Amino acid sequence: MANRLIWAVPTPDAHTHDQRTTRLAPSPTGALHLGNARTFLINWAIARNASWTIRMRIEDLDTPRVKPGAERDAIQDLEWLGLDWDDDILTQSHHLDPYRDAMSALAARRLVYPCSLTRAEIEQVASAPNEGDPHETPYPASLRPDDRPTTFDDADTNWRLVVPDRAITIDDAFLGPRVITPAQSVGDFVIWTKRAQPAYQLAVVVDDARQGVNEVVRGSDLLDSAARQTLLYDALSITDRPRYTHLPLVRGEDGRRLAKRHGDTRLSHYRDRGVPPERIIGLLARWSGLTDHREPMNAEAFRQAFSLTALPANDVTFTKEDDLWLLS
Ligand code: GLU
Repeated sequence: MANRLIWAVPTPDAHTHDQRTTRLAPSPTGALHLGNARTFLINWAIARNASWTIRMRIEDLDTPRVKPGAERDAIQDLEWLGLDWDDDILTQSHHLDPYRDAMSALAARRLVYPCSLTRAEIEQVASAPNEGDPHETPYPASLRPDDRPTTFDDADTNWRLVVPDRAITIDDAFLGPRVITPAQSVGDFVIWTKRAQPAYQLAVVVDDARQGVNEVVRGSDLLDSAARQTLLYDALSITDRPRYTHLPLVRGEDGRRLAKRHGDTRLSHYRDRGVPPERIIGLLARWSGLTDHREPMNAEAFRQAFSLTALPANDVTFTKEDDLWLLS
């Protein structure tokens, strides 16, 4: 198959050189909760204050976890909060060709290979799975084949990226420089899945590149992914890279990342109980260093008052009092 190096040419909607562009990228794997809302609101406020373009992208390739209707609900939740964006919505599952083209380009460079080993088989070879995260068993370089294909010819198998053994520095706009070595934390990670779909890491890089995204603002749980994505930019020879801003997370009182176990913190839960968006934003404003008490506020007032330099560096905790105030 011909190596279609789509990466060397500008995208059709290429913008002026210094235009900054970000994206809101919800995954319709569940309803948006207060933690997601805070990240999206901050991303939107930074973008609108700095006159960045905002793109909306639905990241629906994790198909086993995608919930029917969650895409529409996420859009409605964000509009209800008062957020907006600048163009049509890109839904990842609608067009897989750009991801296949990227795989072909990587195969032509012998930087990917099919791998049908199960996680259990890999764990037998890997010395120690990462504690607490069963998804991140580092893939040992000893299992990487020397004779790798030069075409992407089997979309129904997992494919892994050849990960060089080097440290990546992410110059994060909020966290400062962070050094991450994917070869040690994950090894050759999967970028194409046997469901005939790209994995998250590849999809994000391909989409950020083709949508001209040069400002990525998201939760700090994705900081490690920024290093993996940097390796993919290298492998695809994409020179325009995004600047990263990784934000602190919202946690429950047990210190764990906000999730179902902390009760119902979905935006729809509060909206269905008559809570106005100004209350949600009032709480997010307090969590974002804008106020020292809870006070209703709309998205526009949040935007005007928001400053990244005033954002508390620590993760914030969602408390019972927060929940009671929202519902009061
Ligand atoms: N869709 C991802 C999420 O909802 C965000 C991915 C990203 O910002 O790179 O967690």
